[in-house]
Amino acid sequence: MARTVLVTGGNRGIGLAIARAFAEQGDRVAVTHRSGDAPEGLFGVRCDVTDSASVDAAFAAIEAELGPVEVLVANAGITDDTLLMRMSEEQFTGVLDTNLTGAFRCAKRASSKMLRAKWGRMIFISSVIGLYGGVGQVNYAASKAGLVGVARSITRELGSRNITANVVAPGFIDTEMTAKLPEERRTEYRKVIPAGRFAAPDEVAGVVTWLASDAAGYISGAVIPVDGGLGMGH
Ligand code: NDP
Repeated sequence: MARTVLVTGGNRGIGLAIARAFAEQGDRVAVTHRSGDAPEGLFGVRCDVTDSASVDAAFAAIEAELGPVEVLVANAGITDDTLLMRMSEEQFTGVLDTNLTGAFRCAKRASSKMLRAKWGRMIFISSVIGLYGGVGQVNYAASKAGLVGVARSITRELGSRNITANVVAPGFIDTEMTAKLPEERRTEYRKVIPAGRFAAPDEVAGVVTWLASDAAGYISGAVIPVDGGLGMGH
């Protein structure tokens, strides 16, 4: 059955791969974008997840065009890496505001319509770094670990209404985000990833579409790694 899907940050990178995977299986897909045009063939809404009025307006536009959001993929995220001693409070709260509070704003806005429909899927894109930690990533790791608490609390609050909330924790995926890493860091990471390579965004997308499918209807509050074995045991 075709569903209405929203992928935040679905205009590029992992989010775009996720949006395209849902569209390919026949779902009605909306993506957020902050500037430029929406990707070809997808319904784009301008939205900055740090602004709840912008989130509300985006949901209203999607509801008018495609119907209420049944599958929310909270994917929008940023990094602002620096060592703890040098990290300003603004750098810490800025990353939290996008990655964690942004996901909260979208989940909250989506929840009322999911409750009414007695069906919903929320998928939060976290990171292996959330549980593994990362040098220079106190802000990012905190935001990504926080998503686990968000998904598990939503599971307890809304689980009896046929609403699931899960976390996907990618390892290193080839996108603009990881292209920013210095080559020596990329080489170091490749050495410790059992799979010996970074992944393609499509390898995350397949897990996300599966989590939204009826086959995964009894999975909630789970943290699914897609990391080539990097985070094993964490
Ligand atoms: P990119 O940097 O390629 O894309 C980030 C996306 O997030 C863009 O679409 C961007 O929109 C959007 N975004 C950022 N801030 C906001 C905001 N305030 N409001 C709305 N949208 C926003 O990242 P990736 O595709 O690599 O990452 C996607 C997600 O996956 C992130 O949450 C990231 O933390 C996570 N992740 C990535 C990994 C990787 O190896 N690449 C590994 C683990 C997790 P815009 O184009 O408007 O800037």
